Amino acid sequence: MASEAHPLTSSAAVPPWLWFWIPLFLFALPGYVELATQDFAAALDPPFGGSIARLLLILLAVLGVLPPVILLAGIAGTFAPGWRARSIERRYRLVDPPQNYPSAALSEVIEFLHHWSPGTPVKVCLTDVRKLAVVYPTSFRKMTVGVFGGLLLLWRRDRAAGEAVLLHELAHLRQGEVLFVHAGSPLVWGVQKLPWIVTAVVILQFVVGVMLPVSIFWMEWQEMAASLHAQAEAASLPPEMIDALQVPFSSFLSEKAAFFAHAQLPALALGAVTMVSWAAAAWVAFVAAIWCLEFNADRFAVCARPSALSIWLADDPSGQRPWWRKLDDLVTHPPLSLRRLLLRHAEDRVGLLALLLVFPAAYLVRLVLLIVWGVAVSFSVELDPSVGSWTRTYFTSGANVFAFTALVLLLWPFLAGHWESFVAGVRGYTSPRFFPVYWASAAATLAIAALGWIIA
Ligand SMILES: [Zn+2]
Repeated sequence: MASEAHPLTSSAAVPPWLWFWIPLFLFALPGYVELATQDFAAALDPPFGGSIARLLLILLAVLGVLPPVILLAGIAGTFAPGWRARSIERRYRLVDPPQNYPSAALSEVIEFLHHWSPGTPVKVCLTDVRKLAVVYPTSFRKMTVGVFGGLLLLWRRDRAAGEAVLLHELAHLRQGEVLFVHAGSPLVWGVQKLPWIVTAVVILQFVVGVMLPVSIFWMEWQEMAASLHAQAEAASLPPEMIDALQVPFSSFLSEKAAFFAHAQLPALALGAVTMVSWAAAAWVAFVAAIWCLEFNADRFAVCARPSALSIWLADDPSGQRPWWRKLDDLVTHPPLSLRRLLLRHAEDRVGLLALLLVFPAAYLVRLVLLIVWGVAVSFSVELDPSVGSWTRTYFTSGANVFAFTALVLLLWPFLAGHWESFVAGVRGYTSPRFFPVYWASAAATLAIAALGWIIA
């Protein structure tokens, strides 16, 4: 049986960033609300144009609040774990394990799970041989493991690989973030759908932005043709001559195209940059936090079952999925090549350092995206789009976040065990040889904070 002589590596080698990021996001909400209020006020009383401009500005204001609203709805949805559990069990046809299952594999799997995580409820769907296992919350404090037929097949073929998969899922239970992420999570759904919604909005913006001037040109052209007709009739010119005098709409349009390309396209492109950078800034930190959970769980599994997980990761389980599914999957699971790379370095210091720096790096990317957003917004309202002043604004406001992140990294080797025993009643082990790695990552993060304080 799988009893371990040495204590297991902590399943929370990287701090649970979602617990950190979600309060930060909620803390930033008043800022989002203020911005949205300004946008709506400006949209209701547009400085130019008529009702069409107002409609467009209102549409853009609504779209601007979408990223925070989607993420907020996702967070709110995590407060209904019972509902989520019921919908997952219905969708995956998960039921209580059968009593007299003919193969020993199922009882071995359950025994293994209960060895590592006593009392964790197990549900099964043995007819689904494509899936392996899922974790989901049944209530705020109780998490369930769902086991599929695919895991039993893997278990019989290569037990160590099967154990590695289960250890990966158990690591998720011990990380304490099942409430927010994993199977059936409304937050993950929101983070997955955000890029699609933003893409649709940008396309819509371009379509409206092109159609609107073209329809205005069409009206202009018709007016011109009508007045030409009236003048020609007044001068009693023959109809063939009127037709010859009239400019065709296509050449009228191509004349206008130069103006359009000059005035309208940059505005549209700027609108797209604004929208994409704003949504991406909200998106990137969530995805980084979710990726950290996966790297973390891989690390936990591979330390307990060296090489087994990499064998399993070697055959790409997502190979058959269509590309848009794979894009969605990318939110919940980092690319396999990256997972394999980090697995190879699971036991060394550089691997851990890279893991610890994923979230601060994502936060840095977020700041860059916000600076891009700020500059684009300044451009579109014809203010001085000073990169320097936007950099100062965001680095100053981000400095305290980096400082707090550095503090968490500094203390994490001492806190990880407490966190795990609080969440799961068991605690992993953080080897003292890794302590300097935490401190190095804290120092790097603090350096960014210091940069913010200096340029403030
Ligand atoms: Zn996972």
